[in-house]
Amino acid sequence: MPGMRDFMDDFFALLQPRGMQSRPEMLAFIDSEIGVTDKKVMDLGAVRQDGQQFRSASLRDFFAFLSGTEYLCGHNILHHDLRYISPQGGWPSGMGFIDTLYLSPLLFPRNPYHSLLKDDKLQSDELNNPLNDALKAQKLFYDEVNAFRALSPRRQAIYCGLLYPCREFRGFFDYLGCSPTLPNLPEAIRQEFAGRFCQSLDLRVLVEQLPLELAYALALIGEGEELLPEVVELCRRAKAEGWDKPRLLRAAAQIQGVYVPSLYDVDYKEDGTVRAITARDGAPEKVVKRVVHHMDRAYYPAKTIVPSTEIVHDRVTLEVFRGCIRGCRFCQAGYVYRPVRCRSREQLARRPLPTPATRR
Ligand code: SF4
Repeated sequence: MPGMRDFMDDFFALLQPRGMQSRPEMLAFIDSEIGVTDKKVMDLGAVRQDGQQFRSASLRDFFAFLSGTEYLCGHNILHHDLRYISPQGGWPSGMGFIDTLYLSPLLFPRNPYHSLLKDDKLQSDELNNPLNDALKAQKLFYDEVNAFRALSPRRQAIYCGLLYPCREFRGFFDYLGCSPTLPNLPEAIRQEFAGRFCQSLDLRVLVEQLPLELAYALALIGEGEELLPEVVELCRRAKAEGWDKPRLLRAAAQIQGVYVPSLYDVDYKEDGTVRAITARDGAPEKVVKRVVHHMDRAYYPAKTIVPSTEIVHDRVTLEVFRGCIRGCRFCQAGYVYRPVRCRSREQLARRPLPTPATRR
């Protein structure tokens, strides 16, 4: 129906975020250094939209610097910095908060770890420099704005419709002038992703009960050597025995590390925060990430993706252990891969080394 399509295009065009130049609001980017044990503010950094910069440990000077600011932006500020930084009497009621952490995997799905990020943290060239991190948050924010604008108007409207109720996203949409006004969100999703999911799927239920999970992919959580083969094997069995999808999902949820959103009822409060999450159909209350406990029994590839060619790679890569005994708080290896696990010398000695036959 061309007429209907024109109408929809016009409608989505109305939802386009307004240009940044047309936004008069004052925006500032912040970061803080908080004491690990005493949770006291050790250092503060900020940069305003007008280019003025701030670095000091003085909260009084910090709030004076931010006077007149209408939006505060930073990386992981909602669940970190703002827990420790608050002016006397609280933030003004109209203050908007923008957290770049949650937008990053949504807007850079092929590279969720944007070049400024390492895992969920900003890459720091210099330790304990909150001004530096505020500047990086500023760069990341504008990259996110550009990535959002590059999406189709319908995709923008879908994301806004799904995520606006979440505090982690609302400030971003408010700043861009987007509000969730799509009259039929499931239908817009169905059109946007036509052919990419089962048409008999009851999208309305998902939109109403699991908006966040709809915007993000399903997850296998943790290390994959054991988890992924188990899931693949289950899918093979389901196919061979003709299971329907709900049965497959219920069975998948029994595998540790598999999160099946449709098996969780999420109850929201008035302000959009979660009141309760209730697991159904035997799904675990908490999804526990998978960890390979016995490295010697885990799959170990004989062929590596990076070829062993003589010119620059005349060497062998061996995973001797996973994790790190130091556990520095800023470090992926030290935290994500806990606990530290080693492979035995015997297994490493037995591992087939790349030969010309296994080189690519
Ligand atoms: S945790 Fe280990 S790998 Fe990471 S920075 Fe500390 S010593 Fe280095």
